[in-house]
Order: sequence, then C-alpha cells, then structure tokens
Amino acid sequence: MNIQNKLPVVCPSCASSLNVAQLACPNCSTGVSGNFPLPVFLQLTADEQEFILKFFLTSGSIKEVAAQIGNSYPTVRNRLDDLIEKVKKLQKTHE
Ligand SMILES: [Zn+2]
Repeated sequence: MNIQNKLPVVCPSCASSLNVAQLACPNCSTGVSGNFPLPVFLQLTADEQEFILKFFLTSGSIKEVAAQIGNSYPTVRNRLDDLIEKVKKLQKTHE
C-alpha cells in the first residue's frame, strides 16, 4: 500500500475518530455527502489492519505471523491481546 493512499482514521488536531463525510464514484464521479462512522476495522491504523489480515491469511497462526514479521511468539501474542482490547473498546462505543 502506498503511503499517500493511507486513509486517516484519527483527527490530526484532537485525536478523535474521524467519520466519512464524502464518498465518490470512481466511474462517473458522482459524489455523496453525509456523516458516516467508519466500521470498527477501518478505525484501526493501517499497521493494525495489516496485522489482523496476516492472522486471517495464516488461519490465525501466531507462530506463522511471528515468523513472517520476524518477532518472537510472546511479542506477537501481546500485540494481539492489545489489539483485541482496542477492538472491544471500539465496539462498545458503537453499541
Ligand atoms: Zn457512478
């Protein structure tokens, strides 16, 4: 993924989660305006999304993800636990 194309998910001014205010059709350039909260997965940083995708693509193998990113098993385990806590908090704010 190109750095310029990363979707910002946090306000650079106050650090609150951003909403989607505008969508555009790449085919006919029609624009839609509104105020839509991002789905929980998209509120995560690009790095966190990539980390979760790695788990999905290795059928949830901590061992394999650790090997892929060159970290130890406990490091990946801790990162996963932190991310699970973050997602649970994000889900609560959307209930
Ligand atoms: Zn269109």
